[in-house]
Amino acid sequence: FDQLDGFIWMNGEFVKWADAKIHVLTHGLHYASAVFEGERAYGGEIFKLTEHTERLHESARILGFKIPFSVAEIDDACRTLLKKQGLADAYVRPIAWRGSEMMGVSAQNNRINCAIAIWQWPSYFDPAQKLKGIRLDMAEYRRPDPRTAPSKSKAAGLYMICTLSKHAAESKGYADALMLDWRGQVAEATGANVFFVKDGVIHTPKPDCFLDGITRRTVIDLAKRRGYEVVERVIMPEEMEGFEQCFLTGTAAEVTPVSEVGPYRFTVGEIAKNLMEDYSAEVQPRHAMAAE
Ligand code: PMP
Repeated sequence: FDQLDGFIWMNGEFVKWADAKIHVLTHGLHYASAVFEGERAYGGEIFKLTEHTERLHESARILGFKIPFSVAEIDDACRTLLKKQGLADAYVRPIAWRGSEMMGVSAQNNRINCAIAIWQWPSYFDPAQKLKGIRLDMAEYRRPDPRTAPSKSKAAGLYMICTLSKHAAESKGYADALMLDWRGQVAEATGANVFFVKDGVIHTPKPDCFLDGITRRTVIDLAKRRGYEVVERVIMPEEMEGFEQCFLTGTAAEVTPVSEVGPYRFTVGEIAKNLMEDYSAEVQPRHAMAAE
């Protein structure tokens, strides 16, 4: 992935993709002092760009550092890079991390770096599988207590348990894994939030120890616009027995129906399909909609 064509924005400059390198003694690499974002561009516009950039700043603040570029500067860099990469539909990955000026747990004076990469990434899950519903394993790792980890930050370190869980699921032939939290309540997938449907009502866990996804909030709004009732509450894993539909939401995953989670089975029902459609319409650039 480090030899693609094009450019990466790095600390205020556009550098050739293959030249966007950092030193092996980077604090972010050794101690996970890094925060990042995942965004998607549709038809030349990055969906909810400023919300994502604000979350990047907030994630850094939670980890105790300040990104030396304003939200407006990062937004502008993302937009310029998207054009420079010649892409209309793409994935956008901003990242900020502590540099390599000092080595050790403490890194008070290390430079805060920031970079943005943009590439083509059509579908997170296999498109054919997505329509039939993807299969999820139950993860062994649990989302930590917010007193154990800074769970509101989209921090690189929190993805260690996600990669472990996703790898374990993939090795058994599943697309992803569903994680419980430290209390044993349903939390989220390894890179997406989760929703269930029962008797026409949508249920989703309260995001008190994992990311309150931008897609999650968008889909809740879309569901309410359609007149669906959405309940945010504690969900215990045994309740999955009685749920009829299940779907994931995330920038990369968009709205992805789920057909099974461990021993539980779901159908790809009307509510999931309608929200998939509504989300596809919602992400389209406004000017294109107006021109139609
Ligand atoms: N949870 C995790 C662990 C994620 O990585 C993501 C993707 N950023 C989400 C939830 C969904 O967040 P969003 O809708 O903002 O992409």
